[in-house]
Amino acid sequence: MQDLESLKAALSGPKKIVITTHFKPDADALGSSLGMANYLLKKGHQVQVVTPSDYPTFLYWMKGNEDVMVYSKEVAEEVRTLINEADLVMTLDFSTLSRIDDMGEMVRDSPAYKVNIDHHLEPENFADFTLWDTKAAATCELCFELIEALGDKELIDPDIADCLYAGIMTDTGNFRHGNTTQNVHEVIAELIQLGADNTKVASKIYDGNSLNRLRFMGYALSEKLTVIPEYHTAFFAITAEELERFDSQTGDTEGLVNYALSVKDIVFAAMFTDRKQAVKMSFRSVGEFPANEIAAKFFNGGGHRNAAGGKSDETLEATVAKFISIIPDYKDLLDKESLKI
Ligand code: 5GP
Ligand code: MN
Repeated sequence: MQDLESLKAALSGPKKIVITTHFKPDADALGSSLGMANYLLKKGHQVQVVTPSDYPTFLYWMKGNEDVMVYSKEVAEEVRTLINEADLVMTLDFSTLSRIDDMGEMVRDSPAYKVNIDHHLEPENFADFTLWDTKAAATCELCFELIEALGDKELIDPDIADCLYAGIMTDTGNFRHGNTTQNVHEVIAELIQLGADNTKVASKIYDGNSLNRLRFMGYALSEKLTVIPEYHTAFFAITAEELERFDSQTGDTEGLVNYALSVKDIVFAAMFTDRKQAVKMSFRSVGEFPANEIAAKFFNGGGHRNAAGGKSDETLEATVAKFISIIPDYKDLLDKESLKI
């Protein structure tokens, strides 16, 4: 961890703080933002969380959710002023400012002291204080460690513990992925001791399905899953019309790509979703197969080795065709890895 003295100085006395996170925040993004916000409020600071887009309703239970500002063109000037006048801007769960669209330049231009906490692979080094560890399972794990290093562990109350627990639970795939280290379990044990209610958090996140979402999942699994056994690859391609048909809401497609990866002998899974303004992609892989390399090289994206994403301005059909044309180049890697399963 970088020397804490400059951060401590930046946080001395009540400060105006803006916290932001990546586009379409997930549980780690929102959990780290609201976990830190609630902690900093307790320290006597003035805190505003601003997300670059909306996020799934299954995250609305987190303490402070009703005070979150969601960026849009209508509030752009208000957000610019907030960021410009802040003493400190905290950017969580991302490291490249382009991940927050218009807000990226506002953060870059702000004279505020900048704090970046993240576990993704592409650091941009725009911050004054960086807590960046790609071996960390979640940004929430790093936030816990930062609060502890600042000597404030006892300020973590059940609400903060729930926020941090949520991010670690989801970013480890419910403690299943390779990033579920001994340290993860130790941090989780501490969070439970500090009041995190693990069954409540899991239920809030996973048991809020709408019927539309479940029917969409059923439809996708029965009609839309394509498997290429030769290349140990499986994918979904979802059209804008299909999203509309099932009245798809933010978060409704989350997790679908994991079903493609769960097919026996599959090493690489993808989901293409036609979001009209762009085709959004999610990639998942097992073992050494570099999903992030495919995302970065061919689809304007990036991420972790086993969980990555990207976007394309081409049509859904053209994007899928490109994907299918790329896969044979990775045959050896896909084959070699399949032997390890
Ligand atoms: P998801 O499939 O859950 O949306 O994203 C999985 C991971 O891929 C994220 O944690 C993030 O690291 C990465 N990711 C997703 N979309 C993008 C993107 O458009 N650009 C970059 N650089 N990374 C992405
Ligand atoms: Mn994360």
